[in-house]
Amino acid sequence: MATIAWIGLGNMGHPMTANLVRAGHTVRGFDLSAPALEAAAADGVVAVGSSTEALEGAEIAFTMLPRGEHALAAYQGPEGIFANAAPGTLLIDCSTIDVASARTLHDEAAAAGFEFLDAPVSGGIAGAQKGTLAFMIGGESAVVEKARPFIEPMAGNIIATGEATTGQAAKICNNLMLFINMVSSSEAAVLADRLGLDHEVFYSIATVSSGDSWPLRTWYPYPGVVESSPANHDFAPTFTADLANKDIRLALAAAEETDTPLVLGSIVQEMLQKVSDAGAGDRDCSIVKKLVDGSFES
Ligand code: NAD
Repeated sequence: MATIAWIGLGNMGHPMTANLVRAGHTVRGFDLSAPALEAAAADGVVAVGSSTEALEGAEIAFTMLPRGEHALAAYQGPEGIFANAAPGTLLIDCSTIDVASARTLHDEAAAAGFEFLDAPVSGGIAGAQKGTLAFMIGGESAVVEKARPFIEPMAGNIIATGEATTGQAAKICNNLMLFINMVSSSEAAVLADRLGLDHEVFYSIATVSSGDSWPLRTWYPYPGVVESSPANHDFAPTFTADLANKDIRLALAAAEETDTPLVLGSIVQEMLQKVSDAGAGDRDCSIVKKLVDGSFES
């Protein structure tokens, strides 16, 4: 069993580390947020006061941070991972970040003599809790194979995507579909409600019909239909609207670079921005349903 450093113990990092602990690994965890650190410690993570301390004795280090700038800050500079990890430490960033930041991390890791992978995940907090996340991993295939046994306790699928940064490319395209499907599920759920359909009846039809999707099954936006839905808890965050907005902006930026028209992606980004402007960016992204039923205005 290994000693693993883990930086970023939020909605995803916490349940992911819990699975590594359950698998018998020692996880030395750090988060800037004291409550996040305490929650992870309650599930067996050795809570420490800095990322440098987390790296002590670790043969592998994971980061699970909000955005590119957080990931860069965690790796770079005198307090960063590149300066403080022991030679030979395998470095894996699971955050969803822009391709340019992922490229920088790959290049700087190589210059500092480290093996590095971009390994974003899909499956939400439910997947993180159950250990069924899909990992999409960019980097050298030999390094992916080296990382595989450490990732397995957290994963349902481990997919090598190809060269450096292709994991992030896959994730950005996946999440473009996720958030478009989330909005389509919200629109259909509100319309079904207004046409007099029972929520559970409509849910049971749509999930076995051509309207099925992951956000429909996981985040149905009315309470009492799906156990995992944030609507059951007044849209307490599982995936914040601000992070969803970040992800769809990554897709729009990539679309601009590649001259790809993303008509639906642009509309969904505007909706997530409205959620943020309404002061609900820290709520679950499935709160977009309130834009559809008009309850933000009420
Ligand atoms: P989160 O905001 O819940 O957690 C991020 C944590 O990182 C926070 O606890 C924060 O305090 C900590 N942090 C920030 N900077 C730090 C630093 N320099 N050192 C130590 N800790 C630091 O976010 P999350 O929902 O766990 O998402 C993490 C990443 O995973 C994001 O890139 C997100 O897009 C992606 N993701 C999220 C989900 C989801 O369902 N929530 C699913 C797949 C992927």
